[in-house]
Amino acid sequence: MYNPKSLKADEFINDEEIRATLAYAEENKNNVELIEQILEKARPKKTDSGCHCEGLTHREASVLLACEIPEMVEKMYEVAEEIKLAFYGNRIVLFAPLYLSNYCVNGCLYCPYHTTNKHIPRKKLTQEEVRAEVIALQDQGHKRLAIEAGEDPVNNPIEYILECINTIYSVHHKNGDIRRVNVNIAATTVENYRKLKEAGIGTYILFQETYHKESYERLHPTGPKHNYAYHTEAMDRAMEGGIDDVGLGVLFGLEMYKYEFAGLIMHAEHLEAVHGVGPHTISVPRVKRADDIDPDTFDNSIPDETFEKIAACIRIAVPYTGMIVSTRENEAVRSKMLKIGISQVSGGSRTSVGGYTEKERPHDTEQFDVSDERSLDEVVRWLMEEGHIPSFCTACYRAGRTGDRFMSLCKNGQILNCCHPNALMTLSEYLEDYASSETKELGYKIIEKELNRIPTEKVRKIAEENIVAIKNSNRRDFRF
Ligand code: SAM
Repeated sequence: MYNPKSLKADEFINDEEIRATLAYAEENKNNVELIEQILEKARPKKTDSGCHCEGLTHREASVLLACEIPEMVEKMYEVAEEIKLAFYGNRIVLFAPLYLSNYCVNGCLYCPYHTTNKHIPRKKLTQEEVRAEVIALQDQGHKRLAIEAGEDPVNNPIEYILECINTIYSVHHKNGDIRRVNVNIAATTVENYRKLKEAGIGTYILFQETYHKESYERLHPTGPKHNYAYHTEAMDRAMEGGIDDVGLGVLFGLEMYKYEFAGLIMHAEHLEAVHGVGPHTISVPRVKRADDIDPDTFDNSIPDETFEKIAACIRIAVPYTGMIVSTRENEAVRSKMLKIGISQVSGGSRTSVGGYTEKERPHDTEQFDVSDERSLDEVVRWLMEEGHIPSFCTACYRAGRTGDRFMSLCKNGQILNCCHPNALMTLSEYLEDYASSETKELGYKIIEKELNRIPTEKVRKIAEENIVAIKNSNRRDFRF
């Protein structure tokens, strides 16, 4: 039976409830009056302390996703953009993935690291190699990483992951350092989550891949990942282990997207109902061509327009979550997605083990094809040309604004009061240390304009003073 507060996977992601939701959405997909009501409910409302957004239930959100009336879809994009600007402004946070090891004991049918792929070279970084990769990433300008590894208790035990995290935080090369390490490793125990928390991780990210249990079991025929309940209940264990920022995601293209979407929103509702805090981020990866994998074999591969609509509907339904799109997507898709809800993108990414220190591409350990192959500098410049502010800020995490503390600030629209100036200060650091002259010139024009948008004079003055100090190589490491 459906119960969002239950800790059992098949009760909070209940198949019967998803099917009833899809039927309800289908019945109402042309009900313009209802769709307008839902969109009105979703719109951000001004409050004394800032701004508030109610979000939507999985049933309401599924009606929006099912609707194909062009004017209504256009309105959805408008509301998604309004929400994005109200809570996240025009900042876009940048990060890069760091692949530690592709040893894996699972049999995931869509992933080239599956255990029966005998021709892919297996590689695991030594601590010296981790250091070299981190230096290469710092030389690009990155401050925030997502570490990635296959599941292998012998080759990549939790001790190895913890050692790598420690190494990553210990590298301070020139003006560089990695200030936030997010972790994307397989579902594990409460005890291991506690160890990750103690190691100082940011967000724990785990993609559900698919919420459809039967497909899940078929797509994960062997290995520990085969256990649907253990995988689906992982975020509850992570929270029990003290990690309060968790990141959800579906690998779009594996199953029917409407089913996945309803499951994803129900998962967010479940986290909020049980732990009082929803997902810190939602990622929207799409299955890609990779060694030994052809995405065309996945019947549910979805076209760009549908993919963009899904992103807009997630933005509307879960307004306070950060949304991530990776370099699996090309420039054109990323451009549209940024407008309608994405708040974090990767740039200059390599999806291979040791890829940042290897010169030639493609690399033989690559997990999937990267569609956006531009350098971080090019991505930063492009973001600014498109009207966004690239941000390298990690202040929330360092100031303890995680979990429900982050969410309550975000819910009141307060995040903008510190994130905007922080974004400008960290952008200025990037421009001084890593940018090309073209990017630097554009960057300071944008900073000048954006400083004037800071509403509180005192905050604006402090930000201006700090940017002058950064330009004069007199850094104070100050953040709001
Ligand atoms: N091994 C861990 C696990 O099982 O969750 C984590 C990391 S794996 C390196 C990161 C993610 O890459 C997976 O969760 C999956 O969604 C995604 N992925 C795997 N194969 C892919 C493909 N062919 N195209 C796009 N994404 C893929």
